[in-house]
Amino acid sequence: MSTDSATGRVAVITGASSGIGEATARTLTGAGYRVALLARRADRIQALADELGDSALAIEADVTDRDSLVAAAQRVQDELGGADVLVNNAGVMLLGPFISDQRAEQRQQVEVNLLGAMTATEVFLDQLRDGGGDLVNVSSVAGRVAGPGGAAYHATKWGLNGWSEALRQELQPDIRVIVVEPGAVATELAGHITHEDTREGIEAFVASTAIRPEDIAEVVAFAVTRPQSVSLSEILVRPTAQAM
Ligand code: NDP
Repeated sequence: MSTDSATGRVAVITGASSGIGEATARTLTGAGYRVALLARRADRIQALADELGDSALAIEADVTDRDSLVAAAQRVQDELGGADVLVNNAGVMLLGPFISDQRAEQRQQVEVNLLGAMTATEVFLDQLRDGGGDLVNVSSVAGRVAGPGGAAYHATKWGLNGWSEALRQELQPDIRVIVVEPGAVATELAGHITHEDTREGIEAFVASTAIRPEDIAEVVAFAVTRPQSVSLSEILVRPTAQAM
């Protein structure tokens, strides 16, 4: 049920094994939600579920593998009674120049950030429709501005924004679509960049500028706990010191 009361609501969070997803799980649990923690690193989500107690269920799932999402949705239905909120948070940011050496990273970003969000949504849509739900898509400031050195990542986040706006209109009033666009956040995201010069530059920028994953989690929790008649459709959350 989508109301301003969180009691009994169930949130499915992709990419719950670290960073913004992990923080969102903690914050929503604190607000009275039960949470399904989805990610590939089963040990991490199980440890988090153990810490959060009865309110949390760890489910190993890869957003690029539809079968694993279908199995996850079945468990959410059977063990938690269905999803009221889906947070499409799983993502990779494998920045680097647009060159052939980076083609695997370019493809992976599209498959995880954009197609993964679409697949998870398609798989959980009936559960979200049942009683009214919320779809939260974690985009980025990179979905609002673009620049050299991360073309494929920008494409995924611009794509996510366009897809979300179309879905917002298509799914209203049954489902609220909420786009959250973080600026620099201190997580392990940049540490996975394979292009060394790019990684060093981004890690230095993040270290000097970033806000905490909890700052984003609190915004997600605020958005989904508004009365059903109120939609925060697009929320840009930057560190105050971040220019772009
Ligand atoms: P993290 O690297 O800490 O978290 C990324 C999460 O995505 C992990 O839990 C990871 O889990 C999961 N993930 C990656 N690939 C897959 C996959 N194939 N299937 C399922 N889960 C996957 O980074 P953040 O917390 O920073 O990133 C979360 C989201 O926030 C991303 O969408 C990112 O683009 C966005 N964002 C982050 C910003 C930042 O500065 N940190 C700024 C703007 C947006 P596992 O590896 O266990 O599967």
